Amino acid sequence: MERTFLAIKPDGVQRKLVGEIIRRFETKGFTLVGLKFLKVTRELAEQHYDVHKERPFFGSLVEFITSAPVVAMVWEGDGVVAAARKIIGATNPLSAEPGTIRGDFGINIGRNLIHGSDAQETAQREIALWFKDEELVNWQPHLTSWLR
Ligand code: ADP
Ligand code: MG
Repeated sequence: MERTFLAIKPDGVQRKLVGEIIRRFETKGFTLVGLKFLKVTRELAEQHYDVHKERPFFGSLVEFITSAPVVAMVWEGDGVVAAARKIIGATNPLSAEPGTIRGDFGINIGRNLIHGSDAQETAQREIALWFKDEELVNWQPHLTSWLR
């Protein structure tokens, strides 16, 4: 079953949007298989955003992501990687559609509330980076036939 990695960034936590954000993936019908609340180390932040290390915003991005706790999650379901990106919305909240998380709650590209893996390979890399195998729960909801 397909899985993706999502992280509610420090601004989402500071703004008390954790429940609201999780609700959107829950009510869509995806299944939570991993969840933790943590202060991100510089090492983890740099590895996570390694693909952006040459970008001018890399330093401030790492500063920000390590500045306060985040909620790290793994969600499961058919097509969850692409669907989660849709639910999250465009990188710049000013151009994100209303109805998306970033479109509804954000106005600043550096404070766009949530991270979501951009492809299945990225998801596998990020899940392995953030979670140990034993931190992920293999289960299926009883109402699975209604949702998948
Ligand atoms: P996404 O999170 O939508 O996958 P990217 O992978 O392109 O976006 O960028 C990673 C994160 O870096 C973004 O979510 C955003 O927080 C930050 N970022 C991207 N572009 C900029 C920018 N031009 N200025 C400041 N921060 C940026
Ligand atoms: Mg990205």
